[in-house]
Amino acid sequence: MHENQNFNTLSIQQSDKDYFFHPWTDFSSFYEDGCHVITRGEGFHVFDSDGKKYIDGLAGIWCVNIGHGNTEMVDAIADQLKRLAYYATFFHLTNPVAVGLAAKLAEIAPSHLNHSFFENGGSMANETAIRMVHFYWNRRGQPSKRHIISRVNSYHGSTFLTGTLTGILEDHDGFTMLDGMIHYVSSPYVYRRPDGVTTEEFCTTLVQELEDKINELGPENVACYIAEPIQGAGGVIVPPDGYHRRCEAICRKYDVLYIADEVITGFGRLGHFFTSEDMFDTKPDIITTAKAISSAYMPLSATLISDEIHEVLKQPRAPGQLLTHGFTYSGHPGCCAAGLKNIEILARDRILENVLDLGPVFSDLMAKELGGLPIVGDVRGVHFVQCIEIVADRTTKEIFAPEVRVGDRVTGHCRARGLLARPLGHLVVLSPPLILTRDVIAEMVQILRDSVKATMDDLLREGLWKG
Ligand code: PLP
Repeated sequence: MHENQNFNTLSIQQSDKDYFFHPWTDFSSFYEDGCHVITRGEGFHVFDSDGKKYIDGLAGIWCVNIGHGNTEMVDAIADQLKRLAYYATFFHLTNPVAVGLAAKLAEIAPSHLNHSFFENGGSMANETAIRMVHFYWNRRGQPSKRHIISRVNSYHGSTFLTGTLTGILEDHDGFTMLDGMIHYVSSPYVYRRPDGVTTEEFCTTLVQELEDKINELGPENVACYIAEPIQGAGGVIVPPDGYHRRCEAICRKYDVLYIADEVITGFGRLGHFFTSEDMFDTKPDIITTAKAISSAYMPLSATLISDEIHEVLKQPRAPGQLLTHGFTYSGHPGCCAAGLKNIEILARDRILENVLDLGPVFSDLMAKELGGLPIVGDVRGVHFVQCIEIVADRTTKEIFAPEVRVGDRVTGHCRARGLLARPLGHLVVLSPPLILTRDVIAEMVQILRDSVKATMDDLLREGLWKG
């Protein structure tokens, strides 16, 4: 549709620097390098303002699961916007698409999660979850249950509350965080577990740490525990077998609510609509989800709440007294139309099956092609979330100094070869759209391998690595 559109890259970059205050930006290089201007997407490809085509190894930020430029999706959204672009869902108002999506989510989510609250992003979904948890305990006459246990290396969002829930502790630097209410236990970072400790022993230590933390705070003071099934932005950290199930058991033992943040893992990236029950054998009290719930065609998120919690939340207060939480765009018709169509496409086009079929191929290729390279310390991931951890020394697991920007170097080489990959400090992440074929997975992995090798050559030449 826009194939021949011409862009003036330099002019866009200049205005970008002048006026667009970007999220998550490294201002030590932003003004010098300028941004890469993406102008178009088609399937699993995106194009930049110079017309260059790339394999989208990111799906945006883990979210465009059905791929770009899906006209069926665009038409569904446009049809809805023409019919009803917006109406409130406050004051006992509703609309058919929000109702339809809530019912659909109840159908595909674990059977006890039948009540969806809608927002427009993952941070807001987690914000809602925590507010509802507090409201729940207050209503049950246990207001001391207000403390929250999160984990090191977790990412839960960028609002005041969710920024503090986030356990990537270096991201707190420079900000004022919420004091005293949020506590962190260790990350299930198997690659960096203590020397001489087996994965099983490590898992037991982590579960014990959670129990100890609850006891230290006093179970009567702990409202909930929140965990991503796989820690995404914190480094694609895949927990040991049984870890989530055992953590959930600890939560049950002490009457601590369990929130699963499925903002990345929901809607197919691991081959399931939701992974908590299907992959990790847990039954969270609340699941939060966003991103691929609409494949990011419209900003949508949902907080799925258990029947038991909903039963308490819905008890009337004094006549006329409301449950005072909600957003103007909760249940936005256009966003919910995108959510419904997305679920239809994922199911009808057997996209989850594609992930289950090709995920193991992707993992095996990553291990085979990248695992032996001298600066690759670890290759990890599940299905369509894969990552390499780059180290200067594979024996000591020592990393390169941050100023070497080793992740940026690798992704720069990927970009030159036609692949967009995500640098995450010294890690490189791939989380492509779920419609990738076997051939394209192989091509992507090959590009990543060539890019790591090119980076090794650069580092040697510049005297930054001993080889
Ligand atoms: N939770 C997880 C696991 C995420 O990965 C993210 C974003 O990457 C969020 C929450 C926050 O979502 P948003 O950026 O839509 O607010």
